[in-house]
Amino acid sequence: MKLYEQQELFIYNSLSKKKEKFTPIHDGAVGMYVCGPTVYSNVHMGNCRTFLSFDLVYRYLKHLGFKVRYVRNITDAGHLENDGESGEDPILRKARIEQLEPMEVVQKYSVDFHNVMSRFNAFPPSIEPTATGHIIEQIRIVEKIIEEGYGYEKNGSVYFDVLKFNEDNEYGKLSGRQLEEMITNTRELAAQSEKKNPQDFALWKKAEPQHIMRWPSPWSDGFPGWHLECTAMSTKYLGNKFDIHGGGMDLKFPHHECEIAQAEACNHESPVNYWMHANMLTLNGKKMAKSTGNNILPNELFSGENDVLSKAFSPIVAKFFMYQAHYRSILDFSNDALEASEKGYNRLMDAYRNLRNLPTASESTFDVAAWRKSCYDAMNDDFNSPILIAQLFEAAKHVNAVKEGKATISEADLELLKATMHGFIFDVLGLLDISSEGNNDSGKLSGAIELLIDLRNKARANKDFETSDKIRDELKEVGIQLKDGKEGTTYSLS
Ligand code: AMP
Ligand code: ZN
Repeated sequence: MKLYEQQELFIYNSLSKKKEKFTPIHDGAVGMYVCGPTVYSNVHMGNCRTFLSFDLVYRYLKHLGFKVRYVRNITDAGHLENDGESGEDPILRKARIEQLEPMEVVQKYSVDFHNVMSRFNAFPPSIEPTATGHIIEQIRIVEKIIEEGYGYEKNGSVYFDVLKFNEDNEYGKLSGRQLEEMITNTRELAAQSEKKNPQDFALWKKAEPQHIMRWPSPWSDGFPGWHLECTAMSTKYLGNKFDIHGGGMDLKFPHHECEIAQAEACNHESPVNYWMHANMLTLNGKKMAKSTGNNILPNELFSGENDVLSKAFSPIVAKFFMYQAHYRSILDFSNDALEASEKGYNRLMDAYRNLRNLPTASESTFDVAAWRKSCYDAMNDDFNSPILIAQLFEAAKHVNAVKEGKATISEADLELLKATMHGFIFDVLGLLDISSEGNNDSGKLSGAIELLIDLRNKARANKDFETSDKIRDELKEVGIQLKDGKEGTTYSLS
């Protein structure tokens, strides 16, 4: 019997604005699409939070025994600023500034994205399609939308007719925006546009002469609209109707609203059963964003090289920090919060390691089966990782009490506790044991680094800066970063 047959999973659906019992379209199999990054710069911690929120969803679905097809795209063309009205393609801008081919930009930042996600121990998706690899599919969808009467061509570009669509359907149902209000708010903008209405959005854009990422189409040499890409790639690999579609909260409108409209225009049915939106990571109370510079990059976090940070933090600690908040809550990034999470993470790992040599008794003073159920209840309640982590701390307390002889556990309960803690810590949360004890070198490396830190401190105390700098610089060359903070010197491996 699969675990999902014993568990009732509830997911908050942004479309119905309710928690709904999760029932996949096909028994035992789940199709999930998540909007991937636009690869023109390094992903920041905010982007990572969204991708890690969906890694948790993916991992839990797999843990329950579902066969999951997880599609997460790479946006490597067409994501214009100002939603396609007058904005530049950020990939082309970066290519111009860095004097690279656009595809070099795409490659560079796709590789960075993959490296970062693997440092966080996130699973790669089952399929990672690119927008530029699916131009033909996108052209087909534009043709279909025109055929259905919801698209029109103007000067080689094709737009989606939102007003026409809204006559027969409901535009705005995901974001809760009223079309009438949108129209009132944008009336004055309409004049200089090719669009019939400011709410219309581009399906296909004719390329200006300087726009070098272009493809032939029935309307012009041009490129697809961003919203269209996700419709093409999600339906190609998951079908016209699939289970879960995710992304950050900021993509609800217009991106996901437009995806719904496009798919409904083509197929006359709603494309997705459960819409999931992850909330934002903020810094100083403001959304982390590429455009404003209000962000922290993963590598800055791993090396501690950012003024916000007093030291380096492991990707696994950062992940633990993020999962201590529910994915639908806003989370503010701060050094203090990370330090607190680091302590919590270490406490949890210590307890997990203590499980190894725990004495057993004939009776347990802790109801392990009930505790296990509360772990599942937490995750079944819309992936409530903070409650799950609180439950893991409960177990940690009990483990430590048994170790100190203040409580007891039976052999069978200990086995259940071990298996459950292992399952939730490593499979579901996707954490790793980063402590020296958990590493394969059994602490030899950390012992050697601690020794070098000691020698460096002695050298500095003797004003022998040649030696102290040599230690720091040469460690850095082999990928070990030292960081001096309030509480002494720490290190990170890159
Ligand atoms: P982009 O590369 O801009 O398309 O963004 C990739 C993903 O990161 C999208 O799902 C965004 O919603 C998400 N995202 C962007 N900024 C943040 C943030 N500050 N916190 C959480 N997710 C974010
Ligand atoms: Zn998308």
